[in-house]
Amino acid sequence: MTPDKTAQERLSAMAEPLLAWYDVHKRSLPWRGTPSPYAVWISEIMLQQTRVAAVIPYYARFMEALPTVADLAAVPEERLMKLWEGLGYYSRARNLQRAAQMICGPLGGAFPSAYQDLLALPGVGDYTAGAIASIAFGEAVPAVDGNVLRVAARVGGIHEDILDPKVRQRFRDKMVQALPEDRPGAFNQALMDLGAMVCLPGAAPGCGECPLGSFCAAKERGEQAALPVRRKKAPRRVEEMTVFLLLDQGRVALRKRGDEGLLAGLWEFPHVPGTLPEGELPPAWGLRPVEWRWRMSAKHIFTHVEWRMTGCLVEVRGGGAFVWASKADLEDYAIPSAFGKYLAEVKKIL
Ligand code: SF4
Repeated sequence: MTPDKTAQERLSAMAEPLLAWYDVHKRSLPWRGTPSPYAVWISEIMLQQTRVAAVIPYYARFMEALPTVADLAAVPEERLMKLWEGLGYYSRARNLQRAAQMICGPLGGAFPSAYQDLLALPGVGDYTAGAIASIAFGEAVPAVDGNVLRVAARVGGIHEDILDPKVRQRFRDKMVQALPEDRPGAFNQALMDLGAMVCLPGAAPGCGECPLGSFCAAKERGEQAALPVRRKKAPRRVEEMTVFLLLDQGRVALRKRGDEGLLAGLWEFPHVPGTLPEGELPPAWGLRPVEWRWRMSAKHIFTHVEWRMTGCLVEVRGGGAFVWASKADLEDYAIPSAFGKYLAEVKKIL
């Protein structure tokens, strides 16, 4: 192919070699066996922030516990949070349930089958709607996520900022034209697989084994490392906090987070902003310290925030407005992995 080919011509040349490659090399994933809309939906939502290998056991457990949309709509929130525990970004699980309740309620039990209708479900954005519509229903719509943007930017030689929503829309428009009408779901999954297995991020994608190598602009021009273009992200905000592991005769204090914001509705060890000096307990809790046992630091990184925590294990008396949980009780509370280091230490002690 000559260097003056347009980006669209290069992208439109992808379908045939990509599908031939996919038919031989596609990943065997549990949700691909029976591409029901429910299976595609649950797997795609889990995969939004989590690697495939990590998702597989969660997916299996989730589908065993909640095999249908109706099961998801009806499951108690605490049970749902427990099934999601460890995957993080819990608003995804809440949106799944809200969408399931919408399907089982106002939509009369029918899973929406068109891309535009899928977009109306809580938590379903352009990518997920495209994935469900194309994979489960055969609608010729693209599913454009970060992996697809990387492959498309490289194949087309497109040096535009993929974090800019207008640029993403232009990529999407180009992918609409590149999509084969007869196998849109396979095409979208092939791009996902190529992005995950061959056209990897960084300076050294597997161009030698790539089915798109004969017309890829980045390979031709040696621009793999420069594509895709992303503008610099704002630095992550750092929040310091003192986390109290309060023990009272074999039980540890827990409290429930608020209904809005980060980790909404989950359970946590009581904490206050900043780093308190040793021996200082917030007076408003009305607790009497009996023994200060240790301090231990930990950190947890979210997308936009980093928590730097100082944990204090304190034997106390006095009650306070907390739930007091025994070691066995802890299994009933969804405690986010941000507190995982402290949870593990507390379990050793209780
Ligand atoms: S040839 Fe290389 S850069 Fe181009 S799509 Fe394939 S792996 Fe990616």
